[in-house]
Amino acid sequence: MDKTHTSNTWSLHSLIPENHPRKESLIIREKIVDGLLNGYVAPQGLIAHGRGECFDYLIGEKTQEFAIKAIKAGVASLLLAKNPVISVNGNMAALVPNEIVKLAELINAKIEVNLFYRTVERERKIAEILKKAGAKEVLGVDEDASATIPELFSERRRVSPRGIYIADVVLLGLEDGDRTEALVKMGKKVIAIDLNPMSRTSQKASITIVDNVIRAFPKMIEIAKELRNKSKEELEQIVKNYNNKEILAESLRFISNYLLQLSRDL
Ligand code: ATP
Ligand code: MG
Repeated sequence: MDKTHTSNTWSLHSLIPENHPRKESLIIREKIVDGLLNGYVAPQGLIAHGRGECFDYLIGEKTQEFAIKAIKAGVASLLLAKNPVISVNGNMAALVPNEIVKLAELINAKIEVNLFYRTVERERKIAEILKKAGAKEVLGVDEDASATIPELFSERRRVSPRGIYIADVVLLGLEDGDRTEALVKMGKKVIAIDLNPMSRTSQKASITIVDNVIRAFPKMIEIAKELRNKSKEELEQIVKNYNNKEILAESLRFISNYLLQLSRDL
């Protein structure tokens, strides 16, 4: 892409009519495009976003009951964790920077930049966005990502020795299946936000929140405020009663029934 293009020449933001029926979705898309133009969203992030939009249609673009159950178990796990970490990539920084910082504060988690397509420039830009949103410390930037995840190759395996490397619970969104699996194999509890219940990340994670990060993060903040006051035993009970396979099955049944219903309504 021509580097001389600025967000103004590419952005359609100002051209979206007030009453456009899909205005919100178009604005979200523009945030990702702006992230690309400002050098912190990878081009592949645009493709991932498109995949996400498609799955969002299939769940009615709403936070469904299966996501609420996963969010409750996820937040309870984060509150019980000794070293919780929120892993952040370009798309997440473009869509929910303030919410990431707010949730991290509530659950006392570290924030780490962790990129599939890693460049120091992108790491620095994402850290800057998170700091602007109020983060005091952002791990995983440049030399800080000096530990390695076994089983993974190249730059994809680098993590912070003070963050993901020692974390017992990791919250991530839009993550690659191989990396999710490698973290689970290291013994970590992985909470994944992923709109596609069939992705390898969704299948391999310990807790899968099948929802858009745009809606899931504010919901997690709301639930963290509620669960913060619960006893350790109550939180443990929520986690114990949770079954991820059941939740994934519930999400697939929802999609199937939803499509049947839509076909009947024609
Ligand atoms: P996997 O590697 O897990 O098999 P994949 O290769 O299809 O999946 P990745 O690019 O590795 O996907 O990760 C992106 C995932 O994030 C996709 O499953 C996509 O549907 C999902 N996704 C995209 N946008 C969002 C969003 N806004 N909120 C939640 N999930 C999203
Ligand atoms: Mg992948």
